[in-house]
Amino acid sequence: MERVWILISVRTALEIELIRASCQVVARVREALENAIAPGVTTLELDCLAEKTIRDCGGVPAFKGYRGFPASICASVNEQAVHGFPNSLTRLEEGDILSVDVGVLRSGYYGDSAFTTAVGQISPELQRLLDTTRNALHDGIERARVPGRVSDISHAVQLRAESEGFSVIREYGGHGVGRSLHEDPYIPNYGAPGKGPRLRHGYVLAIEPIVSMRDSDIEVAEDGWTTTTRDRAPVAHFEHTIAITEEGPDILTDRGGEDREDNDHPAEIGLAAAQAGKQP
Ligand code: MG
Ligand code: MG
Repeated sequence: MERVWILISVRTALEIELIRASCQVVARVREALENAIAPGVTTLELDCLAEKTIRDCGGVPAFKGYRGFPASICASVNEQAVHGFPNSLTRLEEGDILSVDVGVLRSGYYGDSAFTTAVGQISPELQRLLDTTRNALHDGIERARVPGRVSDISHAVQLRAESEGFSVIREYGGHGVGRSLHEDPYIPNYGAPGKGPRLRHGYVLAIEPIVSMRDSDIEVAEDGWTTTTRDRAPVAHFEHTIAITEEGPDILTDRGGEDREDNDHPAEIGLAAAQAGKQP
């Protein structure tokens, strides 16, 4: 039998605080973008705002130059699932949905998060897609506990998406994050529970459901990046970087309670802690 070895890093408490600091820059970018997203704004303008916010916080845009990607954010509109290029021609329109994915490198550690937001007023059906995908993310996060396994996260995400009649896009999934943007383990957004590596305290994971309103078949544009559903169904994408702690999952990219009920980590704590600490 062939054995496949994967290496999953267990992070120290200090490393988790450094990752949290990067994640809090990501959270600030999200906040800045959410305030700026409106009909008439171009995705290139949003990319410039994101890069400025990242650099003002002492970070580096993790996506810029990653495998040749030209921008600081992925900006995917409506039926674009992932990896949309920010550009000056894509002007947001009332009723669109926009998915933004953003990563930051700071002090040697990465943070990664994504969100989908409404441009002006959207239809109830689109709102249901957004709500369901965000709930799928939080169902997955809730399973990121010892002594579970990686596919417990996958299963929870899939269940939530499909319970609302939507489908998960299977070509992309979550991942470990820390010293690199993408580390082991890979976390599919579907599958039976109880499989894959056992979860351990100190794992830092990016969990990221990508959910289509109809079919999950996708195609990649000639630019080699922009990925669209074949049936042009709208897609939502939510992602958080989390740490598995003895108290349970700790959302490092949380903006201070917006995404959950209990608010253990106001946005400034991680950043202030890491700024006061060591800068490798
Ligand atoms: Mg991401
Ligand atoms: Mg990611």
